[in-house]
Amino acid sequence: MAFIVTLDEDKCEGCEECVDVCPVEVFEMEDDKSVPVNADECLGCESCVEVCEPGAITIEEI
Ligand code: SF4
Ligand code: SF4
Repeated sequence: MAFIVTLDEDKCEGCEECVDVCPVEVFEMEDDKSVPVNADECLGCESCVEVCEPGAITIEEI
């Protein structure tokens, strides 16, 4: 099973919640925005989706 992690940079408010919650360190902060640098590691748990208040993150199973 694999997942596509999409992050809408325009919606991201830089709170770092997704960086803290992801169990496999998919996200890193770059210039006050979160970037899914390790998307290949995504487990599809959707914890990041739940903590992202502006709804910037989408997880899609492929
Ligand atoms: S949780 Fe959402 S708003 Fe916060 S850094 Fe991550 S993507 Fe940006
Ligand atoms: S769905 Fe889970 S494993 Fe995938 S990026 Fe979000 S928190 Fe990390």
